[in-house]
Amino acid sequence: MKTRIVVLGAGYAGVLTAKKLEKKLKKQKDVKITIIDKNPFHTMLTELHEVAAGRVEEESIRINLKRVFAGRDVNVVTDNITTVDYDNKLISGEVGKYEYDYLVLATGSKPTFYGLTDLEPHLFTLWSYEDAIKIHEHTLDMFRKASKEPNEEKRKELLSFYIVGAGLTGVEMAGELAEYVPILCKKFEIKESDVKIHIVDAVDRPVPIFPKKLSQKTLARLEKMNVIPILEAKITGAGEGYLEYYKDGVHVKAATKTFIWTAGIQASDLSSSSEPLGVARGGRIETDEYLRSKNYSNVYVAGDNIFYTPEGETSPVPQMVENCEASAKTIANNLAADIKKTDKQEKYAPKFHGAMLCIGGRYGLAYVGTHTKKFALPSFFAMFAKHLINMVYFSHVLGWNKIASYLKHEIFRIKNKRSFVGGHFANTTPSFLTVPLRVLLGATWIFISIEKIQGGWLNTPQLASFVASADAFYEYLLYGVADTVAGATEIVIETVNNPVWIDFDIFGLVRIILVDGGELAFKIQIPMMDTMLNTFVMPYDNMQIMFQVAVVFTQIAVGLGLVFGLFTSLSALVSLALQVSFLTSTGLYMSTWWMFFGGIVFLFGGGSTFGLDYYVMPVIKGYWNKLGFVKKWYIYHD
Ligand SMILES: Cc1cc2nc3c(=O)[nH]c(=O)nc-3n(C[C@H](O)[C@H](O)[C@H](O)COP(=O)(O)OP(=O)(O)OC[C@H]3O[C@@H](n4cnc5c(N)ncnc54)[C@H](O)[C@@H]3O)c2cc1C
Repeated sequence: MKTRIVVLGAGYAGVLTAKKLEKKLKKQKDVKITIIDKNPFHTMLTELHEVAAGRVEEESIRINLKRVFAGRDVNVVTDNITTVDYDNKLISGEVGKYEYDYLVLATGSKPTFYGLTDLEPHLFTLWSYEDAIKIHEHTLDMFRKASKEPNEEKRKELLSFYIVGAGLTGVEMAGELAEYVPILCKKFEIKESDVKIHIVDAVDRPVPIFPKKLSQKTLARLEKMNVIPILEAKITGAGEGYLEYYKDGVHVKAATKTFIWTAGIQASDLSSSSEPLGVARGGRIETDEYLRSKNYSNVYVAGDNIFYTPEGETSPVPQMVENCEASAKTIANNLAADIKKTDKQEKYAPKFHGAMLCIGGRYGLAYVGTHTKKFALPSFFAMFAKHLINMVYFSHVLGWNKIASYLKHEIFRIKNKRSFVGGHFANTTPSFLTVPLRVLLGATWIFISIEKIQGGWLNTPQLASFVASADAFYEYLLYGVADTVAGATEIVIETVNNPVWIDFDIFGLVRIILVDGGELAFKIQIPMMDTMLNTFVMPYDNMQIMFQVAVVFTQIAVGLGLVFGLFTSLSALVSLALQVSFLTSTGLYMSTWWMFFGGIVFLFGGGSTFGLDYYVMPVIKGYWNKLGFVKKWYIYHD
């Protein structure tokens, strides 16, 4: 019988553990890996606030699990698990029962209310995909209602938002909402001064895990965005349309319809109720140094569920993504070693590199570095680092496909300039306006090839004299003499006073030349490439003709592609490649520079209007996305 491994929970820890296990146990045909989650998708919890405050679309934070594990020997099951019988190795869910030999418990966390149980019906939490959507829809509803509310007091109540918890999650939520306010005010024609966002916490500074200076910066930024901090205040209760807090000896009852709770978390119900495993503080599971439950050596614990203090540390591992990634690696290694009966078990010794914080889409703070030495990053680099880290994570989960869609959501299709690079990369030009340029570019390629055919490029060797002629042109302008004169008679060089604009050599590997011989000519000379051409192509007539034929037919194909808008992206890419090959051989003359930039314009789907791609691409995409290797390498065309 096969050895059954079940990974319970497809969050950061579960997904990475299952993927790594599958890789390590690929050759073990007697192993079956199953991953179970109550949702058919993986949720990017770290981006929930972006959906809650309308920065990105909801689909950007959900990743289909079937896609993640496509082409991999991992069985994906959707079920809400209710109990685990650790003695009998049996998992029970609402849909089915699942036996296991090894279990990886990775069910994550949930919000906790520190005993204030009567708060729950009156607040919003921010710990799931549904939570984020609920907050977003509710916020829109509040603005919609406020826009029709003539009574000032009632309107202000609708527009009063309270976020409780000034840790990373609360600050991110407050900042995101504050950034959303001017957009909503414009949309619903509401005065910005009517909207009030408050952030409440018992602590005396936001994000206490940061050094004081960064907390001050956080506070300053929040205030700049009109967020009202209410610190050293304790929530005491909430009811229909209000919340109560206690500050400076005074009980305050604040009227609000929006109370978002981000003040604390504990491990998931399944973890907290797993007494046989040994439940520790916050419902987490106590593990040994190999991340196994202390009571059941066939149960590994991952991510937020772990309660373990690594050697030399004073506190248990943090409930953060980096801990999920590190634990996934250790568990995959140890579980595989268990199955293969090797002694290559490794102790869990994670090194954490700090924390990052976004206050809206345009401003970030980071306190990062090595395990022992950390430093703050300026906002631009903090945001850059955050996006980069997300992309590295995505590359592990859903490869290029998710990186591309992340960049699309966060940068290239971002609305209202809500990104750290503003809206500079997101402005769109109606693509029908570019059609004349596409046709002109294509027609020019066809025209150039016809000229070449008429000049005998398909049957007489001309490449050597063509390149020599260009070389002579540059040599004349650079040195005043041309020692390569073959074909140089064709060149018309006007007399100019200072013909050399740029002549810049980079370690003898690349030389950048910009000269004025009547018109500007630009060349990037790569001596190594020249040597190869001069050795393997130029001395042989057949090779020259072969090259010439290839160039002519490629130009015709590119030209037709662009004129008819068929495979436009590919045609544009080849058009660019041709230009680069000219740039590095004969150089580009100013009259053709536009072709280089024209190619760039059509790199991403410029043929989707008034072109054949409009009809052809959807059909090709349908077939492409079903191919095995496409699924396996995540190179979907969405
Ligand atoms: C708004 C927000 C912002 C955050 N920002 C950051 C940040 O910037 N940096 C950082 O490091 N961390 C951040 N975190 C924390 C980080 O998201 C968690 O540490 C991480 O998600 C934990 O991963 P996990 O795999 O242990 O659990 P999760 O990601 O929570 O995954 C657990 C999975 O188990 C499933 N599950 C639970 N119970 C059951 C059940 N009974 N049956 C079936 N399936 C079940 C869930 O559906 C879920 O898919 C943030 C969290 C939030 C909410």
